[in-house]
Amino acid sequence: MGVPGSRLIEIEPRRAYKFPDDPLALSGDVVGRVTEPISDSEQSFARLKQWYHDCLGSHTECYPVRSLGLTMPTQITKGEDGPLPTRLINIGSADGKQNPFLWECGGFEGCYAALSYCWGTSKPFTTQIDSYKDRLQGFTLDELPKTVCDAVVITRMLGLQFLWVDALCIIQGDSNDWQRESSKMDHIYGNASITIAATASKDSSDGCFVRRTTPLTNSVPLRSVCSNSDKVGTLFISEKLGSVHEILDRSPLNNRGWCLQERVISRRIIHFAQDQMYWECQKHCAAEDGTIIEDQNAPKRCLHFDEVSFREPTLATVMRSWHIIVTEYSMRNLSLSSDKLPAISGLASQIAKRTGAEYLAGLWRQDLPFGLLWQASHGEGKRVIDKWRAPSWSWASIDGPVNSQGYRAGAILLDKVLDEAVILSAEVHLAGENPFGEVADGLITMRGRTKRARRASNKEQFDYGGWVGNVSYEFPILNDKGLAIGDVVFDYGLEKEPESFDCLLICKGHTKAGELRCYVLIIACASRMGHYTRIGVGYMTEDYFQSCDSRIITIV
Ligand SMILES: [Zn+2]
Repeated sequence: MGVPGSRLIEIEPRRAYKFPDDPLALSGDVVGRVTEPISDSEQSFARLKQWYHDCLGSHTECYPVRSLGLTMPTQITKGEDGPLPTRLINIGSADGKQNPFLWECGGFEGCYAALSYCWGTSKPFTTQIDSYKDRLQGFTLDELPKTVCDAVVITRMLGLQFLWVDALCIIQGDSNDWQRESSKMDHIYGNASITIAATASKDSSDGCFVRRTTPLTNSVPLRSVCSNSDKVGTLFISEKLGSVHEILDRSPLNNRGWCLQERVISRRIIHFAQDQMYWECQKHCAAEDGTIIEDQNAPKRCLHFDEVSFREPTLATVMRSWHIIVTEYSMRNLSLSSDKLPAISGLASQIAKRTGAEYLAGLWRQDLPFGLLWQASHGEGKRVIDKWRAPSWSWASIDGPVNSQGYRAGAILLDKVLDEAVILSAEVHLAGENPFGEVADGLITMRGRTKRARRASNKEQFDYGGWVGNVSYEFPILNDKGLAIGDVVFDYGLEKEPESFDCLLICKGHTKAGELRCYVLIIACASRMGHYTRIGVGYMTEDYFQSCDSRIITIV
């Protein structure tokens, strides 16, 4: 203690806190603050207002991102008025004289908050076709689920009049309205002045303001002399719950598929987490206890999606970010299987605007053929077969963790890539109005070399410091002489991994270490005549395709 100008004191994995009027606080020796037991306290609201005010007033990084880096303004516009969504909730007046009501925005500009939350299993208060007119007339706060009601309180406290909530602002049960509105998520969250995230709440009945486990619950008090006087103060040492990244990522909201894009697209977010509030904006991530995480990519640093915040990204950096996003997204849950592409369509839309790249059911035309080399990660998963959702060459055809970079990461680093499969055509037929949403069909036609190969009967074994376990999900690929020359990872959902299979050579080259690598898709005959379906991905370390001629292959 006692270092002048010291900031939050952390003694890994513990942290130090003090009360605001303690001599150690006044001397600046300890910055870590004891947080309030619940986040709707006056002090917590004051903290949130201060964050919002500072961000609007002085964060040049947090200028509205709706131009998506196409123009770089030099000054913040204070009002931040932007295009409003189709509908918003006008939250009415605090004195109860004007009830909240649903408002058709009619192309106006303005300022609003958006809500990111889990519906859960509670019966939500929604707008339906037959209740639409009633919602325009108004409703009482008592009718709203607790989370939405709390969001109204927060919106009002921040001085805003409008709030976007999916259950009310999209007409539920009207598939046309859902198609239209769900395709605008990048605008809805990207233009919101703030996103209110009910991060710790599993259900819309839980509310935003959860009762917290404060640092004082399990802390040890310590007396210490101030650095600039002989006054003695008290600080409290308590165990850390984890990094900001860990705390937010394991929260109920961050298990939900839809919420990934809501978080990444939002200009600024206030997280009502289990332990405290966290502020995330383009400049930094700040916690109520005084922690600040700040660097040039601070807002996305917590998510490790740094490149998304680059103002002048290259196609390569944006593609890499896309694969990181898809990998993270594939681990999240969706209530409706058919939402797989729609729930990430806002991010896809942003990437298309940045790069001009053509979107193909979760992949990008300009990233082919390497983008085909995604792999099913270890863990449970299945190929969606009860209701067709995406072509087999897309990761969206699979439920379960996917490494979207997969073998692509190695393939793009090869020297002098040769014998690439040549993409002759790639097309997707959309199922609805959203150009980044559900698809009805999709096929890629390539010219490339194929050859039959077989695998070893057992998966690979790894030696982890003396403990050898059959823990890998890769099978060795065997050459004609039965020697292992690489690995294959099959997609989820195969009844049994086939003993032998067709390999389609995607590319060939040398690693930096000089090793030959051939990256391949594993394909099988599809039920559609003459077409193939993807069943896996792999690589080989010898020129296995030397004697093969090219042919034309269509994968569906
Ligand atoms: Zn900011």
